[in-house]
Amino acid sequence: MTIPKEVKVIIQKLEKKGYEAHIVGGCVRDFLRGVEPEDWDVATSAKPEEIKKIFPKSFYENKFLTVTVQAKSKDPKLKEIEITTFRSEAKYTDKRHPDEIKFAKTLEEDLARRDFTINAMAIDLGSKKDDLRIIDPFSGQQDLKNKTIGAVGNPQERFSEDALRMMRAVRFASTLGKDWEIEPETAKAIKNNAPSLKAISKERIREELIKIIMAERAADGIELLRKLGLLKYIIPELEKGFGISQNKHHIYECYEHSLRSLDYAAKNNFNIYVRLASLFHDIAKPIVKRGEGQDATFYGHEIVGARITAEILQRLKFPKKDAEKITKLVRYHLFYYNVGEVSESSVRRLVLKVGPENMEELLQVRVADRIGSGVPKAEPYKLRHLKYIIERVSQDPISVKMLKVSGNDVIKIINVKPGPEIGEILDILLGYVLSDPRKNKREFLEKEIKKLGQLSEKELKAMSQKAKKEREKIEIKRDEMTKKKYWVI
Ligand code: ATP
Ligand code: MG
Repeated sequence: MTIPKEVKVIIQKLEKKGYEAHIVGGCVRDFLRGVEPEDWDVATSAKPEEIKKIFPKSFYENKFLTVTVQAKSKDPKLKEIEITTFRSEAKYTDKRHPDEIKFAKTLEEDLARRDFTINAMAIDLGSKKDDLRIIDPFSGQQDLKNKTIGAVGNPQERFSEDALRMMRAVRFASTLGKDWEIEPETAKAIKNNAPSLKAISKERIREELIKIIMAERAADGIELLRKLGLLKYIIPELEKGFGISQNKHHIYECYEHSLRSLDYAAKNNFNIYVRLASLFHDIAKPIVKRGEGQDATFYGHEIVGARITAEILQRLKFPKKDAEKITKLVRYHLFYYNVGEVSESSVRRLVLKVGPENMEELLQVRVADRIGSGVPKAEPYKLRHLKYIIERVSQDPISVKMLKVSGNDVIKIINVKPGPEIGEILDILLGYVLSDPRKNKREFLEKEIKKLGQLSEKELKAMSQKAKKEREKIEIKRDEMTKKKYWVI
């Protein structure tokens, strides 16, 4: 792994003007792990005004001393590089915003205000080529080697300054890879400070939650949130399912089943909608449960669950469109399908309710639900058959409605009274268009109508019947191809 030249150039320019400049934060961590960083951040002794002078193509939105410099690069990650003046944070009274942001004199001071040791390292480029030096005052390299997330300084204080750091700890534990653990004192401080998460804005919580959910180990992340006492300040509804047993159809209790469903969705790289719907699909079960033991029931859990899902997503300020989609997936996750038993029209109704654009995701939620229940197989044939029926009912029917002319046009053009020939002419025209879609143009069709108007009743009838037979063949062929696509017979 090398440091991009765009970043080097920025540092060299700052140094030439007599300022200190280093690569800092998450990108140093990722660089040392051999993982491509999300973005490259630079910290400097130059003040924002001074940075702006050196880089004319930059903007400063007065946000925490960070100036964004625009670089010429093909790599989108390098188009904008953030340069932040060394800073330290003074007192926090509200557990989320520093009361004032202060300039720091040294890099060490700047590193000390960062959250975790692995995020509190810097790279000094050095004067000669390739002689980088890692500046690591808090043993971040050691923690990186041991896969440990430890707070910089006193964890208790660090979490009471900014409670979101507790979620960040869980996020790093779930995104950095297998076997990462939160250092015991840091974990203890999270347990003590968990309630202060209430002070954090829902938007910041949502962003960290999304990062956890999008991790391959999303389910471990949620479980870690629970163990550390954070989950009840984020999604208390989910925690309610903990220890709630199900019935003879389930080996796992509600909460574990939800996590296993999410786990399958994450391992299969399903999108955020499917992951959240998999996690929430049974969220109402603890509420609607009636009876105990093998015969307990959960009637209506998908309806109540959809409402609760909508509430959670609204509370976490998810965009309305995303919330609606996830809610729909929860609402309809129980759809019933059996080959030969469920009619095409009921599949059509399902597609209408869920939306054709959401069907693929609904099926993914269904598979996640099933695998999350501990059954070994995902009903491949049944699901492929359902996919086939969905596509079949979603295809536009082949009909004269596809034509760029109508029965009224025929009546006007050849000046006849409404009668069977109108339909026959349209059938013939449809035959032309099916064999060559480019023929579906008004001008062409009008000319053909005039020609067909010259024919006898008998001739028209024969031609239209031939056209209809051709059409049937095309329909059968289309259906065969759809079947082949989904491997069904
Ligand atoms: P990512 O891969 O998500 O970008 P990152 O570590 O770069 O991870 P950012 O949110 O981009 O995380 O923050 C950049 C750096 O700023 C962090 O590495 C850390 O040093 C510091 N930082 C970010 N948020 C906080 C916080 N809430 N408290 C203290 N330091 C923080
Ligand atoms: Mg970053």
